[in-house]
Amino acid sequence: MSNHWLADRTRLFDTSGIRKVFDLGAKLKDPINLSIGQPDFDVPEPVRRSAIEAIESRKNGYALTQGMPVLREKLAAQVSKEYGHDDRELFVTSGTSGGLLLALMALVNPGDEVIVFDPYFVMYDSLPGLVGGVVVHVDTYPDFRIDLNRVADAITPRTKAIFFNSPANPTGVMAEDDVVRGLAELADERNVVLISDEIYRTFAYGRPLVSPAKYNPRTLVVDGFSKTYGMTGWRLGFAHGPAEIIREMIKLQQYTFVCAPHPFQWAGAAAMDVDMTPHVDDYRRKRDMLLAGLADDYEVAKPEGAFYAFPKLPWGTGLEFVTEAIEKHQLLVIPGNVFSRGDTHFRVSYAADDRVIERGIEALRKLARKKS
Ligand code: PMP
Repeated sequence: MSNHWLADRTRLFDTSGIRKVFDLGAKLKDPINLSIGQPDFDVPEPVRRSAIEAIESRKNGYALTQGMPVLREKLAAQVSKEYGHDDRELFVTSGTSGGLLLALMALVNPGDEVIVFDPYFVMYDSLPGLVGGVVVHVDTYPDFRIDLNRVADAITPRTKAIFFNSPANPTGVMAEDDVVRGLAELADERNVVLISDEIYRTFAYGRPLVSPAKYNPRTLVVDGFSKTYGMTGWRLGFAHGPAEIIREMIKLQQYTFVCAPHPFQWAGAAAMDVDMTPHVDDYRRKRDMLLAGLADDYEVAKPEGAFYAFPKLPWGTGLEFVTEAIEKHQLLVIPGNVFSRGDTHFRVSYAADDRVIERGIEALRKLARKKS
């Protein structure tokens, strides 16, 4: 195939680092897999049943672009109760990823800048380039707390949006309420769109997430069902924000994704009635178990949410460390440079069986001490 068939934007995505890890991992018979970005529990039974019923009752055609009333109205009622903003509208997306892409398509012109906190969820670093935008990084090392002065300094006349994610992937860190408020107010003052990715809001172990939308009614929120209900394969999310932005995102959805999967919207409505607290409690316990297990050998910023920790590498580069983890201990973790311009940390996911976490801790302790 001729090289000039491929658009330049295909070069924006460098998957080589993570691919190397997965290629090495694929050869393992019984890996200790702490690399996974999804819950290890299944979709709750009533939600599975609701999906089956939706399929059996022939809800298999296109859904309305903005989402089926059964789900959209339920979500909108919840959001309106929480914020009470007059101008806030909501629609159903193809996963949170769908919402993120449509947001950038609706907001970013070529040359516009998008502020991304480093470390970041991988999509934040690549999506702006897809629509001709430019990423401006704001460092949050070593404690992964947002410094509002740095954000203020990074805003230029070309800044269109800021990605905010709390609890965060890959660090698990949650922003303090005063920082959330400060960021929300800063975005408002400087007339920049704050995009708040709240996909991990259910997994907050100490205090509930306070959304920046509480302090800035023009905040655009993207959220989804993937993590909360263990339904990453069902591709269900939603976005809410200023009516004008949401209307444009719906229009763009009509010409791209068309709609979110129809039967799963019925199941999503059923999911909203399921209490996930037992799973969240279980993940809090797993978080504590991992932190206690690593305390003597690793420097880790305390993760207050999501299901990740982002320890500092005890030695070597991310690739060297992860290669040894795989080759000597059958352990799969992700090198930090997949999520960062830096290469000083690695991501551990504790969305795993207790036995796997225990084996992982043992392997990580040996690795730090260079024992096999
Ligand atoms: N945002 C963040 C911060 C994530 O970690 C993920 C999934 N890894 C997503 C969005 C995408 O989720 P979805 O399955 O809803 O597209």
